[in-house]
Amino acid sequence: MAKKYNIAVIPGDGIGPEITKSAIDVLEAATSKRDIEIFTKELKAGGAAIDSYGIPLPQETIASAKDSDAVLLGAVGGPKWDNVEPDLRPEKALLGLRSGLGLYANIRPVTVYNELKDASPLKNPGNIDFVIVRELTGGIYFGKTGFYQSGDHLSDGSVKGKIAYDTESYSEGEINRILKIAFELAMKRRKKLTLVDKANVLLTSRMWRRLASQMSFDYPEVEFDCLYVDNAAMQLISRPATFDVIVTNNIFGDILSDEAGQIAGSIGMLPSASLGAPGTPGLFEPIHGSAPDLAGQNKANPMACILSAAMMMRMAFGEEEIAQDIENAVKKTLEKGLRTSDITFVGEGKNTTLVGTNEITGAVIANL
Ligand code: NAD
Repeated sequence: MAKKYNIAVIPGDGIGPEITKSAIDVLEAATSKRDIEIFTKELKAGGAAIDSYGIPLPQETIASAKDSDAVLLGAVGGPKWDNVEPDLRPEKALLGLRSGLGLYANIRPVTVYNELKDASPLKNPGNIDFVIVRELTGGIYFGKTGFYQSGDHLSDGSVKGKIAYDTESYSEGEINRILKIAFELAMKRRKKLTLVDKANVLLTSRMWRRLASQMSFDYPEVEFDCLYVDNAAMQLISRPATFDVIVTNNIFGDILSDEAGQIAGSIGMLPSASLGAPGTPGLFEPIHGSAPDLAGQNKANPMACILSAAMMMRMAFGEEEIAQDIENAVKKTLEKGLRTSDITFVGEGKNTTLVGTNEITGAVIANL
């Protein structure tokens, strides 16, 4: 009997509906070849939900997403909702989905396809293939925050006035569960794990380092090292091909994963996964935003969303073969010279053809 998977699809705003449609079309084609059925239900979040329900994340969306086997998200936000109240901003839907689904691990692979090497701003990027594992629900973005008034003076005599503060705090449990994901991932890859922290200054980082060092004894095959975040920012530029798995806290992961995305050169190619406790639905989405400048013009690159669907097959359902089928079809499509507008300059003069979202999706399906 065919296996069945229920996928909640949140198209979102801007190019979201176009790229999620591409990804689902590819998924349907890829799964049907291997006797698997997927069922999709479309849910609203972000600006689309504000327009329909007056709020960015209706309860119905969370409940339905929780009830699915996995969630595919396009992107949310756009100028139409820029002036709504801060609490109603479309991006609030992302935080709500993360906390509602208990997604604590953000996994972002950074791969540079041979055909797109020219897209990297680095002269000799080498064979870049690493993954950033970022803690997603703890740390300074979720710590105690506030204002207070101070009558104290600074060294130049001026009054301090209003003081704003944000707090970085982590529990051992939070750190251990993300470290475990990172070590396990390293075991499935090239068995190298780098912890990025700021242990020379921060107490929380020292706890990350202690726990990671302890856990490394359970994974003797994994070559484990640590880098201070400032150094890591440099090393990602100077020797990106030497990294395998990088694990880090919420704020460092936020910053470094954008840096890493830029190393790969094309925002339209990078997928991501956010995972929670085993057995709960993960969320798979491209790293880019809703690109309102391209929406509705058949210009968006759907590859990041298609590759997010491949990650879903691998990480949510253990369907490694389907994941590889999709990734190989993407590679073949690039090898044949098809390019969307964001990557047209790559391989210029080498028989490349500018195509739209629909055409490149059709080519991926044909190459499956
Ligand atoms: P963006 O990622 O949407 O766009 C940045 C640039 O990259 C634009 O020039 C855009 O045209 C281009 N681009 C992005 N994705 C592309 C694709 N698939 N194909 C071709 N080109 C692509 O970032 P932004 O402009 O800063 O943000 C636009 C909106 O998206 C904002 O409302 C922002 O808040 C939101 N946003 C949402 C998410 C999310 O839903 N996860 C993430 C980031 C930004």
